[in-house]
Amino acid sequence: MKVTSAEIVISAVKPNQYPESDIPEFALAGRSNVGKSSFINKMLGRKALARISSKPGKTQTLNFYLINEILHFVDVPGYGYAKVSKKEREAWGKMLETYFTTRDQLRAVILITDLRHPPTKDDVLMYEFLKHYNIPCVIIATKADKISKSQWQKHLKVTKETFDLSDKDYLLLFSSETGEGKDKVWSLLQHLAKK
Ligand code: GDP
Repeated sequence: MKVTSAEIVISAVKPNQYPESDIPEFALAGRSNVGKSSFINKMLGRKALARISSKPGKTQTLNFYLINEILHFVDVPGYGYAKVSKKEREAWGKMLETYFTTRDQLRAVILITDLRHPPTKDDVLMYEFLKHYNIPCVIIATKADKISKSQWQKHLKVTKETFDLSDKDYLLLFSSETGEGKDKVWSLLQHLAKK
């Protein structure tokens, strides 16, 4: 998909702040510093629309981006940052639970992982959280440019096995550096948006 317009519409904390339209939506989750902002920027063809993490774990809002007037991306605050207090973590969990259980237009959650490493404990918890709510999941294993192509399949297999990925979910590799995977991800999202 060619992105001709992308803009942030709102940073929301509460459901009454979510945009009212019923256009298809994809939420983006991942641990801090995994490369989530870079993924969003690459997908949208923008240099710095999603802020590339200066303060990991600080943005406790759901950032809604409107794309080509037909899709929403919802940037979810990163997890797994050690310096976040218990209270902040609880607020984060509550905000996500509310969002996941009330948002009918949510088609899938895009969960960003690092292709180089097996998914972390927090990644697996996030995946299980999504499965608990029956939310389709698209795993994006990013930073593919950091390992040689001959290693890609092996690392994808580890990712798939660590999550114990369901047949209903998807796993694609990506690089924000080279754009590897971008067209495949857009094709998949366009397919899921129609569901
Ligand atoms: P976020 O905290 O998940 O939003 O992570 P960022 O997008 O800010 O990325 C964290 C760091 O990883 C930054 O220094 C990025 O430049 C780098 N990075 C992100 N994606 C890639 C990638 O695909 N390839 C490479 N080589 N570096 C990446």
